[in-house]
Amino acid sequence: MEDTNQDQQTEKKYQIQHDRPNCIGCAACAAVAPDFWTMSEDGKSDIVGCKKRDDEWEELDIEEKDFTVNKEAADSCPVNVIHIINKETKEKII
Ligand code: SF4
Repeated sequence: MEDTNQDQQTEKKYQIQHDRPNCIGCAACAAVAPDFWTMSEDGKSDIVGCKKRDDEWEELDIEEKDFTVNKEAADSCPVNVIHIINKETKEKII
C-alpha cells in the first residue's frame, strides 16, 4: 500500500549505521543491497549517500520500505558491523 500523503508512512523510521573501522571489506552488503551499499577504493564498504561521523561510522536514515533489504545486508555481514535502529523507539534491531 502506497500513500505518500501520510507522514507516518513517508517518515524515515529507521537509521542504518555502519561501524566502518571494523568493516573487513567482504562485499556481502554491496551484493545484497547495491542501492544502499557500495565498495570503496580503500576496500571497505560505504553506505550510499550517508552522513560520515567523526568516529568514522556512517549513518543513513531510511524509510520503512527500505528496511528489509538493509536488514538482509546486516544479516549478511560476517563481522556484524551493520546496525539498524528504530528511530521512534530507539530500539537497536541488529
Ligand atoms: S558485509 Fe560487513 S564486513 Fe562485509 S563489506 Fe559489508 S559492512 Fe563490511
